[in-house]
Amino acid sequence: MSRYNPMNRRAFLSHLGRGTIAVAVVGITAAACSAESAETTTSAPIPTPATDTPNAPPTTTSKAPGPTGESTTTSSTPPAPNDAAGAVTWERANLGFVSAYVLARAGEAVIVDTGVSGSESSIGDSLGVLGLGWGDVSHVILTHRHNDHQGSLPAVLGLATEAAAYAGAADVPAIVSPREVMAVGDGDVVFGLQIIDTPGHTPGHIAVLDSAGGLLVAGDSMNGSNGGVIGANPQFSPDMSTANESVKKLATFAFETVVFGHGEPIEVGASSLVAALVATL
Ligand SMILES: [Zn+2]
Repeated sequence: MSRYNPMNRRAFLSHLGRGTIAVAVVGITAAACSAESAETTTSAPIPTPATDTPNAPPTTTSKAPGPTGESTTTSSTPPAPNDAAGAVTWERANLGFVSAYVLARAGEAVIVDTGVSGSESSIGDSLGVLGLGWGDVSHVILTHRHNDHQGSLPAVLGLATEAAAYAGAADVPAIVSPREVMAVGDGDVVFGLQIIDTPGHTPGHIAVLDSAGGLLVAGDSMNGSNGGVIGANPQFSPDMSTANESVKKLATFAFETVVFGHGEPIEVGASSLVAALVATL
């Protein structure tokens, strides 16, 4: 029941924000981030050291009374579908200065972002680490339109022939794709993952939340830096005021892990760090 077929992938749900608490103040500096210009995709402003490739098995601490397996429950109050779908396992395709991610559950995968052109083999490797292949990819989500995130979309969709593609509405017109890219935003759920509008870095930027597993895929709405989290990169974010509002919005959700387009993932205590970041904005 947790498999989302292409016919119901755009289930519209009421949005449930989760309050988070945290008051630590962390001084965070530096700007690592996005070589986003469509033309100069090889100019990595700050190369992120490619260390390990974290593959965090989901801590299956179910936060909601969701079903534990494939069998359905008979609860009179159905759990939120994104929790009901169960936590995903994720794998990072570390492409150098940018990363793409594969999120998998029950033999099915979603790819979030596709790197620059030519990244498909690395993304395929990440699928393989999870024991999956291109035929298992049912969805491809782009966090935004920048070339270091959409560059391999045509190749990825060429390999993942069954996959549907999604991006934020305001960014869809700037995305080059061999198939329709469906517009998604607040209230949409894809593959059991909650889509969160996070404009500012680009007008149509979205983040992707696996609330069951406590995983946020932040795209370029925030960046990893020195083991911490910083906001959107002002150099590449034309509307920083809106970008900062998006970070504040993300801080209202609960997540243990956050992964970025640029920078190292934070696997523990992530939403507290984001809340601390908000205090500095
Ligand atoms: Zn970007």
